[in-house]
Amino acid sequence: ISATFQDIVRSITGKATISPKNIEEAVEQIKYALLEADVHVRVVRRFVNQTIQEATGERVLKSVTPGQQFVKILYDKLVSFLGDERQDLTLKGPDTLSIILLAGLQGSGKTTTAAKLALHLKKKGRRPLLVAADLARPAAIDQLETLGASIDVPVYTDRSQKDPRAVVKRALSHAKRQAVDTLIVDTAGRHQVDRELMDELSRLVRDLSPDEALLVADAMTGQTAVDVAKAFNEAVGITGVVLTKFDSDTRGGAALSIRTITGAPIKFIGVGEKVDDLEPFYPDRIASRILGMGDVVTLVEKARELTEAEEAEKLQEKIKKATFTLEDYLEQFQKIKKMGSLQKLAELVPGMEAALGGQEIDEKAIRREEAIILSMTPAERRNPRIIGPSRKKRIARGSGTSVYEVNRLLKNFEKTRLMMKKMLKQKGMQQSMPTSW
Ligand code: GDP
Ligand code: MG
Repeated sequence: ISATFQDIVRSITGKATISPKNIEEAVEQIKYALLEADVHVRVVRRFVNQTIQEATGERVLKSVTPGQQFVKILYDKLVSFLGDERQDLTLKGPDTLSIILLAGLQGSGKTTTAAKLALHLKKKGRRPLLVAADLARPAAIDQLETLGASIDVPVYTDRSQKDPRAVVKRALSHAKRQAVDTLIVDTAGRHQVDRELMDELSRLVRDLSPDEALLVADAMTGQTAVDVAKAFNEAVGITGVVLTKFDSDTRGGAALSIRTITGAPIKFIGVGEKVDDLEPFYPDRIASRILGMGDVVTLVEKARELTEAEEAEKLQEKIKKATFTLEDYLEQFQKIKKMGSLQKLAELVPGMEAALGGQEIDEKAIRREEAIILSMTPAERRNPRIIGPSRKKRIARGSGTSVYEVNRLLKNFEKTRLMMKKMLKQKGMQQSMPTSW
């Protein structure tokens, strides 16, 4: 995709803000690129719509182009669609037996993944037992035995059984007598999703109520993998996905689709045929892979930090020169809301934290204070001293608040302004060198 994304960036370079108009062409290209990466049509539509919505109106940072910034927005959105945080297996403590069930189509990589997971858990100090519950082909049992031997993990087999449930039941009681804390159950697959397979699986899941019912899906099969994931999730209720054959030329489109359509977290990716070719699934890394533009993302992140620091510096100047007005105060509210946390702002503006006295930001209170300031005339905002009783009444009426609240806001503002000034002075005295930020 990377070549296409380069074009996208070029097409919106030089624009001041991101608008639906100037990203129109880019959006078309993104749709195309995502479809090319084998992302499901419905996912593409949902993804693109949300990205446009979020990107529109965003002010472009000084040292980057709108195109670059748009790539960053795309990237963030991708990470969020891919699940944000890494999700590990959720297993019980080592004193209680945990069960992992693997399901999927034939050839998707279940047996290989069973061994990979066994090795992964063994390295973490757990004691797994592989259970051969794929009774469709005798060769499947041999395959698991060979793999188990190669990683020195025991394999439970029972060639006399025809019903996988019976095998698992026996494996369970076997496990209780052995030093085993995790059962990894390899099951049979079919070429296609069919009733019989699903019935067998739901019976197994009902019997076992596994800690993890993982779908093993072949990333190379793109659209099919998505349909399979959907069918398995509806029939069995999966707790997560292992995407295999990620080492092939795939760009991760299947990951985006599967995650979005099933909502089930992708927990691991298979990156080769060997038993240690298993990696945790990191949404941010996969997003970079889909976009192929990790360096742009870093650039924009840096630019954003710079801009924030610059704005803080300007604010500091204003406070020093006592030109910090209610307008700046209002701007702070808007920033707090945008940044989502007061903590971040407080880090940038000395005195801010103390002025707020550790008080929690109350969204509603901020909105009311905002309304009050917005009801003032520019002159009043610049010089609140001119606000006498009749002006206060007018402002209260205009903002749908009370004179009491207007008074409180003015007091808060004055307190903040003084506190900031004081803090800045102290800071200046402590440091003999002028601070650069
Ligand atoms: P099952 O039928 O679902 O049990 O699938 P298998 O575990 O037997 O795997 C089918 C084929 O896919 C085998 O040749 C495996 O070596 C291969 N395979 C499984 N996982 C991966 C992977 O992550 N990458 C690659 N390249 N091959 C894989
Ligand atoms: Mg198999």
